[in-house]
Amino acid sequence: MMQRFSGRTALVTGAGQGIGFSIAERFAAEGAHVVLADIQEPLLLDAEERLKSSGYSVSRRRLDVSQPDQVDQVVESIAQERGTIDILANNAGIAWEEPFLEIKDDNWRKMLDVNLNGMFYVAQRTARHMKDHGGGVIINMASTNGLVGEAKYAHYNASKGGIVLLTRTMALELGPVGIRVNAVCPGYIQTPMSEAIDDPEFVSGYVKHHIPLGRVGKPQDVSGVFAFLASDDAAFIHGECIVVDGGQLAF
Ligand code: NAD
Repeated sequence: MMQRFSGRTALVTGAGQGIGFSIAERFAAEGAHVVLADIQEPLLLDAEERLKSSGYSVSRRRLDVSQPDQVDQVVESIAQERGTIDILANNAGIAWEEPFLEIKDDNWRKMLDVNLNGMFYVAQRTARHMKDHGGGVIINMASTNGLVGEAKYAHYNASKGGIVLLTRTMALELGPVGIRVNAVCPGYIQTPMSEAIDDPEFVSGYVKHHIPLGRVGKPQDVSGVFAFLASDDAAFIHGECIVVDGGQLAF
């Protein structure tokens, strides 16, 4: 494995499972010290143990990204402990199906609170620190659902569409202070999140009709792109949203 992140500290939110865990594993395998952050403590403990047993340098913070006070505390404590936060994978998110006409106000708020507000709190606090400590790289987790609509996901789609323009605007304001910002837009990736929503029969039909590469994505398909964007190989990529969907949006 290349060692593109030796000596760097990376913060990964939603690192307890799924794509976030895979991003943490990849960054650590390439030499970063990775701070795993997640709202679910048992997942966090398990993730930390798995990565440590692979010989990687990791630590953990329990964090609900939708709580700005917690975000303040966690970013401050990592900055104190590590000196710099060089890379942020702003990944934590939630999703569920709900027809537009039935969305409850509380559910709308919850979705936006975690997926959009949470992403803003973590990005802003981390960027403030990066600005004063030599810059850094931020990668926000959007989705193909931030670029095109999907029925029964109005709240999720709105949150992810918001992340796309948050990313572009952050790029305009943060590029000049040495912070490179991009987003990743995955399509259908097999994780606990997608497994909770769809049954296997639905998935095989979906793949046949919608994904030219003929399979759903793996978390590693996405974490490799995060690693690329975080690395100096992507030094001139800024304000971009990279689609990782097996060709789904090519239709
Ligand atoms: P997942 O549910 O498997 O994992 C998400 C992790 O985020 C969990 O460990 C969870 O505990 C954590 N989390 C949830 N709310 C949190 C909060 N308030 N604060 C901190 N952590 C919190 O999901 P995943 O499929 O790995 O998705 C990760 C990201 O990728 C999400 O932003 C999701 O929207 C996005 N995404 C997923 C897919 C897909 O098909 N799986 C496609 C496009 C985008």
